[in-house]
Amino acid sequence: RAKELGKNNYQLFTPELEEAGAGLLELENSLHKALAREEFELQYQPIIHAETGMISGMEALLRWRHPVRGLISPEKFIPIAEETGLIVPIGEWALREACKQTKAWQEAGLPSLAVSVNLSPRQIKKHNFVETVTRVLDDTGLDAAYLYLEITENVAITGEDNVDSKIKSLCSMGIRFSIDDFGTGYTAINYLKRFPVNTLKIDRSFVADIEENHDQRGILKAIIALAHSLKIEIVAEGVETDDQCDFLRQHGCTKLQGYLFSKPLSTQHFEVILRENPQFC
Ligand code: C2E
Ligand code: MG
Ligand code: MG
Ligand code: MG
Repeated sequence: RAKELGKNNYQLFTPELEEAGAGLLELENSLHKALAREEFELQYQPIIHAETGMISGMEALLRWRHPVRGLISPEKFIPIAEETGLIVPIGEWALREACKQTKAWQEAGLPSLAVSVNLSPRQIKKHNFVETVTRVLDDTGLDAAYLYLEITENVAITGEDNVDSKIKSLCSMGIRFSIDDFGTGYTAINYLKRFPVNTLKIDRSFVADIEENHDQRGILKAIIALAHSLKIEIVAEGVETDDQCDFLRQHGCTKLQGYLFSKPLSTQHFEVILRENPQFC
């Protein structure tokens, strides 16, 4: 089992839970239990309109509220969930929860925003993925126009397991797709042109380097220009400083996300933001 999981993933999880002597089987087991005991929760991070500084949407981010260890970051448990396949039910839970919450906020008369939900490659590859998403929207009553699904570049371009056709049928229902961590994988530009991608999320490593690295600024400008000419929206991830924000706004980046505006927030805290609807920049 340990070999199967790969050393890196194992190590990722190690500092949090393995010190208690938990083996991998136990880790898998505790993820199972976490799902059954409803120990997962979502936090929401605002996505800001670069032009107006107003909130334009939110990304739902998974957390595990461990009864003893407190809040555990997805980076610690998602690799294990991926390897064991548990990411499929966990991811479906996250999708359902995000849609349910978004609909509840709409019904409470708060601004109707779109929610972005991260998808694992394993979810999309499931034969019944389209049906699952359709059912979640039906059950929660959320209009498809308020859902963005975030996929990574490498999933988008594999072409295997009918990923292309699944994405196309979800798009035809009104769901939009974002390419997450853009720039860290291998997107063919040709793919962006023929494929219904709505948004590119520029990986935060590019944003982090804006200040010191001249080449990086050039690359960022080129990505933004490319997206404009393909009529694709751009979200910059990991915006932490005013300088980064200014640069991105100046060069026509359409949306911004990062600690400069807000960290991911609990449902209750995010609701306060929705009520106050502040101008972030
Ligand atoms: P991601 O989808 O690229 O999400 C953005 C990550 O960057 C989040 O980390 C967010 O908290 C963090 N972030 C946002 N602004 C800043 C900033 O200004 N500076 C820095 N340093 N970080 C910032 P988080 O919440 O720990 O999530 C990590 C990754 O876990 C996500 O990266 C995503 O790949 C994955 N993930 C989260 N929720 C889910 C889920 O429901 N399903 C799946 N399959 N993956 C998820
Ligand atoms: Mg994401
Ligand atoms: Mg990202
Ligand atoms: Mg990521």
